[in-house]
Amino acid sequence: MIEVKNLVKMYGNHPAVDHLSFNIEKGKIYGFLGPNGAGKSTTMNIITGYLAPTEGTVIIDGHDIFEEPLEAKKCIGYLPEIPPLYLDMTPREYLKFAADIKKIPNSERPDMFKQTAEMTGIVDVYDRPIKNLSKGYRQRVGMAQAILGFPEIIILDEPTVGLDPKQIVEIRDVIKKLGENHTVILSTHIMQEVTAVCDEVLIIAHGKLVAQDTPDNLGKHISGKNTTQITVKAPDYRVKAVLSKIRDVSKFEVHDSTEVDCVDAVISSDMDKDVREELFYAFASAKCPIISIMPSSMSLEDVFIKVTEGRQTDSRVKKSRK
Ligand code: ADP
Ligand code: MG
Repeated sequence: MIEVKNLVKMYGNHPAVDHLSFNIEKGKIYGFLGPNGAGKSTTMNIITGYLAPTEGTVIIDGHDIFEEPLEAKKCIGYLPEIPPLYLDMTPREYLKFAADIKKIPNSERPDMFKQTAEMTGIVDVYDRPIKNLSKGYRQRVGMAQAILGFPEIIILDEPTVGLDPKQIVEIRDVIKKLGENHTVILSTHIMQEVTAVCDEVLIIAHGKLVAQDTPDNLGKHISGKNTTQITVKAPDYRVKAVLSKIRDVSKFEVHDSTEVDCVDAVISSDMDKDVREELFYAFASAKCPIISIMPSSMSLEDVFIKVTEGRQTDSRVKKSRK
């Protein structure tokens, strides 16, 4: 659906995007995850044809965004970081304006406006000037503009930034709904956002792609270990004794528990080993009841720190520290 090859964007001597290549397949929700300044917005502006790259190509559904921009842009709806809203317009007027730009035939408009407004939840504010709307509603109007015409690909740059928690949940629901019929790419610097809505994550740091996988796999692959957490009603020396006899347990830590007379243990085993049954039988025969047992993989925060930590000391940063 989207092929990005060897994309470079230089600002003076500074590479905002540094030889970035990836493919986006049809029908998934992709999360573009990276800290501020990673190059997310720059990449999105290039993919959508708003910014020319220094090097590299972007092919959208077979069309090069710079050689056949009209065909390529037809496939894309874009909500930029700062939505280009006209504050004096009402959502009704703004959608009409957007429909003119997208050259949507008059006959299709009434139905499309209705569907778009319902999907983004702006029906109640449809005739109020955008300047009187809350940030959450403005963001919805921006999204309505992006999805108008129902393009195959919808690109959203930090769609939940600056919203309150309730609005964030609502916008995420809209995104999930969009993902049922569209390819969606959203950028975010919030890990939970990616776990909450995305099928696949691209982690970007210093303009480079540092990882691409499902949120679940990222956690597993990077640690290379399975982690299981248990709470056992027994003194810690007994828990340690039982754990040290289980062959598939490669490492464990035992901590105080918030449960009375219990200890918590964090147990590592190899990727392909699920040690939960072994734990059950081992502790049962030692007459140490397991109160809870929970598989846990690395959080995306951990993953993020892990995949980006080596890159914090790249040449540019090193130089500026000298
Ligand atoms: P993100 O969206 O991930 O926060 P950006 O793509 O906005 O990152 O920015 C990537 C890098 O490029 C940053 O270091 C930023 O300062 C720089 N940058 C972005 N736009 C410009 C510009 N117009 N001129 C100079 N530098 C820029
Ligand atoms: Mg940005």
